[in-house]
This record gives sequence, C-alpha cells and structure tokens, in this order.
Amino acid sequence: MNVRLLEATENPEEVICRAARNDYMSAFNADMSFEETMATVDGDDVEAKKRTLIGHLLDHGHFGPFEHPYATFAVEGISRSCMAQLTRHRHVSFDVQSMRYVTLDDVDPADVEAGELAVVPPSASDPDWIGRNQRGGAVDEETVARRAAVFGRSIRRSVEAYRELLDLGMPPEDARFVLPIGTEVNVVMTMNARMLMHVADMRAAADSQWEIRALTERVLDLAAEWCPVTFDHYDEHVMGRKNRLAP
Ligand SMILES: Cc1cc2nc3c(=O)[nH]c(=O)nc-3n(C[C@H](O)[C@H](O)[C@H](O)COP(=O)(O)OP(=O)(O)OC[C@H]3O[C@@H](n4cnc5c(N)ncnc54)[C@H](O)[C@@H]3O)c2cc1C
Repeated sequence: MNVRLLEATENPEEVICRAARNDYMSAFNADMSFEETMATVDGDDVEAKKRTLIGHLLDHGHFGPFEHPYATFAVEGISRSCMAQLTRHRHVSFDVQSMRYVTLDDVDPADVEAGELAVVPPSASDPDWIGRNQRGGAVDEETVARRAAVFGRSIRRSVEAYRELLDLGMPPEDARFVLPIGTEVNVVMTMNARMLMHVADMRAAADSQWEIRALTERVLDLAAEWCPVTFDHYDEHVMGRKNRLAP
C-alpha cells in the first residue's frame, strides 16, 4: 500500500480560523489581514492564537469550519475489500481504477502466488495474528504455512481463469467476476478536514479491519503535515474519545 497527498488547500488552518472568526465579527473578514482576524484570540503570536482557536473549536464540537479545507490523496494497492469499506463514506469523492479497462496484463502469474496482484492478509503468514470473529486463537507455523499456500494457490487459479476467459473473448468487465476480493486497486479520494477526522474516528479505531486502519493511519500522518495544529489536537484530545465528529 502506498498513500500520497496529491493536492490540498493551501494554508488550511488560516482558512479554518477565518471561517470560524467570521461567525463572531461584524466586519467583512476578506478585508482583514490574518493577524487582524485573530487579534482578540488568546496567544502571544499568530501560531499560538491558531492553536487556541482550533483547540477550542474541536473541544466544543464546532466542526463546520473544518469543512472548508480539502485534501486529495492517491492510494495505491489496497484490496477491493478495503475499497468497499472506504467508499461507504458518502462525503468523500472517489475515483477508482476500473477493471473494465485495466486488464492486469503486466502481472506475471509466477508472482501472483507470492503476493503480487492481491493483498495478502497478515493472518496468512503470522501464526500469532488474531482477527475479528476468528475461530480459535493463535496457530502453529505449519498451519500458517498451509494457509499461505492455500491463499496463494487460490489467487493464482483465479488469475489463470481470468486470463483464460479473456483469451476466450470474454469482455474484461465480465471476466473480472472470477477475480478475488483481495485484488489490488488504486484509488484517488478527496475529502475535507472534518470528514478526514470522521473517517479516522471510524477507521483508525481498534475494531476496524487492519488494512483500512493502516490506510487511515497513513492518511492521518499526511494530514498532520498538511494541517498540523488541527491533527495534533485531534490526535491528542479527540481521537478515540467520546467527542467524535458524527454520532
Ligand atoms: C468496525 C466497522 C464495522 C462495520 N460493519 C459493517 C457491516 O457489517 N455492514 C455494513 O453495511 N456496514 C458496516 N460498516 C460501515 C458503517 O456502518 C458505515 O456505513 C460506514 O462506516 C460509513 O460511516 P457513516 O455511517 O458515519 O457515514 P458517512 O458516509 O461517513 O457520513 C458521515 C456522517 O454523515 C451523516 N450522514 C451521512 N449520510 C447520512 C444519511 N443518509 N442520513 C443521515 N445521516 C447521514 C452521519 O452522521 C454520518 O456519520 C462498518 C464500519 C465499521 C467502522
């Protein structure tokens, strides 16, 4: 899995602060400098004032201003299972690599069994891995080696069947039905800072599946570089607490 920030609103925290301050001032905010906008907020300098205001907004559930800055992420190599979970979030905009057009021609069947093409879950190689609703607990090395073999063989057979169906003239949009749910897909997604925190509330939580949790943690790392005051405060004071961003 690879996650990169493609584009994002410049000066996102100035936008958040300007939007929030707009609510409580009679003057037209666009005519003011940022320093003037923040004049009555507590803090020795403008950075401290940003921390005061953003912390106050998050702590008091005033989330609207966080809807103004947007970020676009490119995600490479998540499973279609993870993609299905991710795309349940209705306020995120998505573009998903299409298997009506992309036919996996460059994938070498010899590599498929070793984990190319489909995401291999950690439970296929880690005997101590315990997942949700698992029958039984940890297993021995021999059992996990058998899991890995069955998993790899199953993926390879699916890909061979897929290729055979294409050779028999079946359209890619129909031949893809035999491919596994673990097949890798690339996604571009855009969301605002409020939605990003909401996705993190749900998907960085311990009861979320490992793959979408890993994806969300990478998105959060990038968000912390893009919008540092907001996501530092979110990480320290909001995430995992009761003050979540949506009921
Ligand atoms: C651990 C876990 C297990 C899950 N298991 C399942 C499962 O077994 N089956 C399944 O189908 N889904 C499952 N989901 C998905 C989950 O039910 C949600 O559909 C998904 O997480 C989207 O989040 P959301 O409901 O907050 O909506 P989002 O689309 O992210 O919307 C954000 C917020 O906007 C508001 N909102 C958006 N649309 C509406 C609307 N139409 N009406 C009212 N309010 C709205 C809500 O406050 C919502 O919380 C699971 C999620 C998690 C994290």
